[in-house]
Amino acid sequence: MSEPDRSLARRGRVSVLRGLVGRRVAEAAPAAPPRADAVRRYGTLQLRHVDAGSCNGCEVEIAQALGPVYDAGRYGARLVASPRHADGLLVTGVVSANMAGPLRRTLEAVPRPAIVIACGDCAVSGGGLTDGVGVVGAVDAVVEPDERIPGCPPHPDAIVAALRRYSGR
Ligand code: SF4
Repeated sequence: MSEPDRSLARRGRVSVLRGLVGRRVAEAAPAAPPRADAVRRYGTLQLRHVDAGSCNGCEVEIAQALGPVYDAGRYGARLVASPRHADGLLVTGVVSANMAGPLRRTLEAVPRPAIVIACGDCAVSGGGLTDGVGVVGAVDAVVEPDERIPGCPPHPDAIVAALRRYSGR
């Protein structure tokens, strides 16, 4: 390859690299909530999911939010298996009597500062099941949420937006 050809190829590689590095992959992160600074030191958000009594509709949307299409992972958010590794809880469903204690104890196991995100109408307000048998109430009847994601179920976009407020990315 002649020197002019080599120089052309080099310039081409540099401009492709610039395009990749400089390209915005998404709009800016939503405004940070008051307690976000406490958990977003590293631009990541690790959450332990607690199903407190969901119909599993919210779980389907959470799986979408973390899957390859909505890809909350590219903003630093992911679910972890242990509350000891988490920055907080992602809670779905109206809280059943049997899950009130485990929900409280799971939050106690999260290192401080810890956040609580109530995901879906059931978790936010009790939805249509507030007066059901064996129901304690919405998440705030047991632990105080820092963030509420309304919807039955919430759209994956709404879940990703809420997670980004805490990961800061
Ligand atoms: S908010 Fe809707 S989808 Fe989510 S657990 Fe309640 S009933 Fe199911």
